Amino acid sequence: MAAVLRVLQTAIAIFRDFVENDGKTLAYTAIGIISVFFALLVLIIMPVVIHERVPVAITEEQAVWYWQGAKDITEMTQSPCDEGVYVDWQEVIAIDAVRLKQNFKKSSAGRARDLAADFVEPDGECAYCTGKDEDRECTTYTTYSLNSIQQVMNEIGMSEEAQKTVREKYLAIRYDFLIGYRSEPSIVNYDSLYSGGMVWPVPSYHRVSSPYGIRVHPVKKGRSMHYGIDIPAPVGTLIHSPADGKVKSYSWSDGAGWVMVVDHGENTRGERITTRYCHLSEKVARVGQEVKAGDSIAKVGNTGRLTTGPHLHFEIYVNGVTVDPVTLFASVK
Ligand SMILES: [Zn+2]
Repeated sequence: MAAVLRVLQTAIAIFRDFVENDGKTLAYTAIGIISVFFALLVLIIMPVVIHERVPVAITEEQAVWYWQGAKDITEMTQSPCDEGVYVDWQEVIAIDAVRLKQNFKKSSAGRARDLAADFVEPDGECAYCTGKDEDRECTTYTTYSLNSIQQVMNEIGMSEEAQKTVREKYLAIRYDFLIGYRSEPSIVNYDSLYSGGMVWPVPSYHRVSSPYGIRVHPVKKGRSMHYGIDIPAPVGTLIHSPADGKVKSYSWSDGAGWVMVVDHGENTRGERITTRYCHLSEKVARVGQEVKAGDSIAKVGNTGRLTTGPHLHFEIYVNGVTVDPVTLFASVK
C-alpha cells in the first residue's frame, strides 16, 4: 500500500512539475524514451540492415580492379573489323562478392581480370584490309562472343544457391553503386567535369535497365553501341536537369521520339557538357530557357520507334563525345 502511494505521489509530483515547467519534464522524458528506442534500433536493426542492404562490402579501389578488368577484356575483343562485346563489370563483382564471401581483400586486379576473361570466348576471325589490288594488305583479328553471367557461373561450378545470391547482389549493386560510388573514377574526373555535382534526372527511379556500352539492341536485335543509359519510369514522370544549363533544342526523331538537349556550359577544364533526353512524352521547359539543377525540364514517355516501354534514355556528352552517365553521379538524390 505504501509503495502504491509512493508511485502515486511521484506521478503527482511529475504532473505538477509538468504543469509548472511548461511540459519540460514530459519533453525530457519523451526525449529519453526516444533516445533509448533509437539506441536499441541502431544496436539491433542496423547490423541486419547493413548486411541486407549493402550488398557488396567493397572499397572504391577494389571496385576499380573489376571495372578495369572488364574494360581490358572489352577492349581486347574490339578490332577494326569487329566492334567486340561489352563485359559488365558489375556482373563480375557480383560473382566475386559471393565467391569471396564479401572479403575483397582476398582479390586482386589480376583475379578480377581473369574472371572478366571468363565472360568472353573466341568464336572466329575477321579480316581488316587496306589498299587496292597488289597493295592490298589484310590483317586478321580474332572475334569474340559474350558468355552470359549464367554460363560463367555454370562454368566455374557455382551451386544453384550461390547463383541465386549472385543475381540478388547484381540487382542491388546497380543501386548501391549509384548511391555510394562514382563507378569509373579513373576514366572521368568527376570534379573537373562538373564541380557542383549532378542531380539524378529521375529522382524516384534509380534502376538502370540498360547500361552504357555495347549491347544487343532490344528492337534492332544485333549488337550495337548504347550511347546512354535507360531508366524505366512511368509516362509523365518529371525529368530534372542534372545541372544548371540552358535548353538547347526539342525536336522529333523517328527512332528516339521527342528529344531534348540541354547545354550545361563548360566545366573547369573548359570541356563543353551537354545532356540529351529521348522518348519524351512532352517538354516542361521551353527552348532557350535557363534552368537550374533540379528544375523540371520534360516528362518521361515512350515515343519513337526504338523503345520497348516507358523509360528515359539519358546521354551525357563531353565535347560532343558520350561518356557513361553513371560515372558522373557521386550520389543519387
Ligand atoms: Zn536507351
